[in-house]
Amino acid sequence: MSVLEVSHRGKDFTECAADAEATIRRLAGVSDDYAVLFLAGGATGQFSAIPGNLTQRGDTIAYLNTGQWSKKAIKEATRQGLEVKVVADEADSSYTTTPAPGSFTVPAEAKYLGYCANETIGGVAMPYVPTEEAAGVPIVADVSSMYLSRPIDVTKFGVIFGGAQKNLGPAGMDISIIRRDLMGHARSDVPAIWDWQVMADNDSMLNTPPTFSIYLLGLILHWIEDEGGLEAMAQRNDAKAARLYEAIDSSSFYNNPVEPGSRSAMNVPFTLADSSLDADFLAGASAAGLVNLKGHRSVGGMRASIYNAMTDEGVSALIDYMAEFERTRG
Ligand SMILES: *Cc1c(COP(=O)(O)O)cnc(C)c1O
Repeated sequence: MSVLEVSHRGKDFTECAADAEATIRRLAGVSDDYAVLFLAGGATGQFSAIPGNLTQRGDTIAYLNTGQWSKKAIKEATRQGLEVKVVADEADSSYTTTPAPGSFTVPAEAKYLGYCANETIGGVAMPYVPTEEAAGVPIVADVSSMYLSRPIDVTKFGVIFGGAQKNLGPAGMDISIIRRDLMGHARSDVPAIWDWQVMADNDSMLNTPPTFSIYLLGLILHWIEDEGGLEAMAQRNDAKAARLYEAIDSSSFYNNPVEPGSRSAMNVPFTLADSSLDADFLAGASAAGLVNLKGHRSVGGMRASIYNAMTDEGVSALIDYMAEFERTRG
């Protein structure tokens, strides 16, 4: 029988899930002060579940607005009856910057400070964890598009959450790392499958969990470990990103609009000097085996997502194609 067929309550699968959790704990240095939960509904589900677990209606929270994913989280928190204080908003730069350290403060009454550590669509990454600005308020970070792409100091956070699909496994599952003192205070109307305490008490298996996704997650976590862990991932990811940004910056044909200190090592958006060539660029790229380069519909242009799994050779192939396209068409 395969993992698709065995009972999720049986020893074979419970060992598989326990191993995935243990491997995350080893890789990211997660102590027993934190629960590691596998939750339904992806990161978007947590946009609803986080307010449900950490607040009551009418409470205040603080959020940094650094782009499209923080906007979605803010919208959902507002829908959950919260007073959302947007303590920093990068609208003036069209979301190509992050707030400078010390440029904002979090009101003491805020139940948490939320932010998106890597804005997938805009290619903007927060270069620091705002612990000083948040002073005593739990920090909740959406790390979907940079999950386990570099070392992380878990102790700075109240909650780390993200969908598995960008860096760690199949779509549909959220992985949340939650400080235990923040659990057990959920609103009475939170769905049980999103009540962190209930899920922790049931090893994330109140319902039948996405067994195949958890199995694949475990395989990918072991791959990360075999490659040398998060230090090795960071080195490789930074080297890939540096080469791609260098190719963009040294050309007058390609442009990346993001302030250098806020650039993402995972998502690299870029535009062509002449956008009427976009379709030709994409068609030629596809013919060369370079796919998934079309920018998000809301921003246009191109976007290279160079997650953990993207090889050095893949990035080199893109850089070579870009140079050739510029030489012949630019
Ligand atoms: C992809 C993404 C999400 C949404 O994840 P789902 O699993 O589709 O809900 C949320 N935040 C960020 C930063 C993302 O990149």
